[in-house]
Amino acid sequence: MSIPTIKQVRAFVLRGGGADYHDQGDGHWIDDHISTPMGKYPEYRQSRRSFGINVLGTLVVEIEASDGNVGFAVTTGGEPAAYIVEKHLARFLEGARVTDIERIWDQMYNSTLYYGRKGLVINTISGVDLALWDLLGKVRREPVHQLLGGAVRDELQFYATGARPDLAQKMGFIGGKMPLHHGPSEGEEGLKKNLEELATMRERVGPDFWLMFDCWMSLDLNYATRLARGAREYGLKWIEEALPPDDYWGYAELRRNAPTGMMVTTGEHEATRWGFRMLLEMGCCDIIQPDVGWCGGVTELLKISALADAHNALVVPHGSSVYSYHFVATRQNSPFAEFLMMAPKADQVVPMFHPQLLGEPVPENGRMRLSRLDQPGFGVTLNPECQLHRPYTH
Ligand SMILES: [Mg+2]
Repeated sequence: MSIPTIKQVRAFVLRGGGADYHDQGDGHWIDDHISTPMGKYPEYRQSRRSFGINVLGTLVVEIEASDGNVGFAVTTGGEPAAYIVEKHLARFLEGARVTDIERIWDQMYNSTLYYGRKGLVINTISGVDLALWDLLGKVRREPVHQLLGGAVRDELQFYATGARPDLAQKMGFIGGKMPLHHGPSEGEEGLKKNLEELATMRERVGPDFWLMFDCWMSLDLNYATRLARGAREYGLKWIEEALPPDDYWGYAELRRNAPTGMMVTTGEHEATRWGFRMLLEMGCCDIIQPDVGWCGGVTELLKISALADAHNALVVPHGSSVYSYHFVATRQNSPFAEFLMMAPKADQVVPMFHPQLLGEPVPENGRMRLSRLDQPGFGVTLNPECQLHRPYTH
């Protein structure tokens, strides 16, 4: 059987929203006084862009095969990631068969160990890996979820992340996750305001709708414990990413401290099976939330997910649009998915990676039929109106 080989790998940078979803204009809820680890510096408290959250931009990886098919993927990483793809990783792909995904992953990971392991390098490897799966799907004319072993459900259901759970409820989502607005450096008054916001939202959505807090790594153990205990009477479903990702010990203790029935979740800034092994073996959380564009790609997420399954932890990937949807469809331990509300006021459903992808499906009434994912690869194309910039070649 003749299998196409990889002819060329190209890396581009894009600005303005999309996979780097924090790269938004003024007045967007995603940059409105959100509690962050930089909140201890008053000058960086109001806006995450002020400390550079959008400094990288989107990485686009394109992989061209000998049969003319082109796979691609987007993630964050921008120009430094483009450098790593062109100058370092491309060598492991060009000339290989399009089916050599496992070996390519292993070579990318091991060859970058001395400067990689987590963060930007694994984002970059994830982008290459996703582009490889997209390419394989196009070569075989099958959606990625089929390549992963097939879907276990006919439709996905979503909770919404954004500033307006009350509106998300009207749009049919099963829950709403709000950004926490005040961190420990805003003291008792800030804690009170956080709980008041939750109380107000609970009043608006009634007793049964899920409400969650996303704390974006910004709290300490004491504050997180007090927030969780204070939030109990308002039925907070989970407290997300309360602590810095390196504080595994803190997470384990927070999980012991949290009120019975309230879940502790984390992992969007964790990477690889080894990072998630720490979270799982130390009992840090009830749900792991790997981002498929950051944790090592789909190849690695399959391993992370198997490990989570053996620890009775759910896998509910962070954001990442179609790259998550194709995965979630295939896993029994991923019963629902996240949808980031990228409209500036969180008042309507828009594609998560707008404007970069064409054909990007969105939930309708909080749900997505599997048939929306029945296209070769990840089923999306790059929007030709986005200006691709290729800063490096090889
Ligand atoms: Mg989060």
